[in-house]
Amino acid sequence: MSATSRREFLVAACRMAPAICVTGLAAPFFRSEAFAESRIDEILRTAPRARYWTSAAHDPKLVKCLLCSHACAIRPGGRGRCRTRMNVGGELRSLVYGRPLAIHVDPIEKKPFYHFLPGAAAFSLGTSGCPLRCKFCQNWQLSQSAPEDHPTTWTPPGSLVSAAADRMAPVIAFTYNEPTVQTEYLTDVAREARKRGLSSVIVSCGFMNEAPLSEMCEVLSAVKIDLKGFSPDFYREVSGAELKPVLRSIAQVARSGVHLEIVNLVVPTLNDSEKMLRGLADWVAGEVGPDVPVHFTRFHPDYQLRNLPPTPVATLELAREIAMGKGIRFAYVGNVPGHPGNNTLCPKCGKVVIGRSGFFVSEMNLSGGRCKFCRRPIPGVWA
Ligand code: SF4
Repeated sequence: MSATSRREFLVAACRMAPAICVTGLAAPFFRSEAFAESRIDEILRTAPRARYWTSAAHDPKLVKCLLCSHACAIRPGGRGRCRTRMNVGGELRSLVYGRPLAIHVDPIEKKPFYHFLPGAAAFSLGTSGCPLRCKFCQNWQLSQSAPEDHPTTWTPPGSLVSAAADRMAPVIAFTYNEPTVQTEYLTDVAREARKRGLSSVIVSCGFMNEAPLSEMCEVLSAVKIDLKGFSPDFYREVSGAELKPVLRSIAQVARSGVHLEIVNLVVPTLNDSEKMLRGLADWVAGEVGPDVPVHFTRFHPDYQLRNLPPTPVATLELAREIAMGKGIRFAYVGNVPGHPGNNTLCPKCGKVVIGRSGFFVSEMNLSGGRCKFCRRPIPGVWA
């Protein structure tokens, strides 16, 4: 980022900072460029050697990051596209390890997970940085900033798990920015959490490579992946990424047996064509099966797409109808509180097995993982 554009970014971020929902160990508070420069030395003191990288054969000081599909080549002193991985003397280091900055206890439905421990409190955290550049990002103050832009407190995995346990949260959710950038931290936290009886989940763009995702699947209990649009052009133009690696990740999680849910944020005029919605539903039904929940969520103008209107509810209803027509059994309308499409219906008797009001469970007709009315099993992690 150039000096000018960085300054502009920080000014804009300061204006938006109150929009970030934060409590707990540390809060993002954007400071000056001098502040950021003074922070990097402190961060480097605790930044461990990263996993998933290799040295270039022709130049041992040049590093290639293998964490996500961007495969950044990083020179000494440089960073990857996500801003969180730095080449320090030929060794790749993670600048976000132990540096959570947005922490909040949310209902698990807010992630959204609808078939995973309904009503559970999720101790949710994010860091700075992201490999993607989504023009609609609602957390861009975090995702498009660097670790040194924020004051953070060194928080080793055990302390984070203790903080979650102290708040009686059975789930730790890595969310707000792309969790892949903190893969070393999240897997260490998730291992520690599992030992202490807590589950860990991620809310991800699915752009990571196979090997890191495989390590994550060993320690996570649920994964939500954003399938942002069923078009390579949409991914390139709106998110600065590629569709193929995301589809590969979704299929990999489905094969792993870890609980999976998919979200499609429907953005007016960009990914809301019937052709794209049908393509997405066809792929999900065929590749990962009809029992994986799919959420069609409402876009609200934000970041670089303030010129577009919110998604009409009728478009979300159409997306849900298309998905159910393709055999997807649990298709939802999201970000529209009170809409009947928020509820889980039994595919056999059609009755409401889980009723939701906003992010809260208002009615529970599940018993032992089955519909209370007709006893059909409902797929999910319920206890
Ligand atoms: S994780 Fe970051 S540094 Fe690594 S390849 Fe992806 S964008 Fe580049």
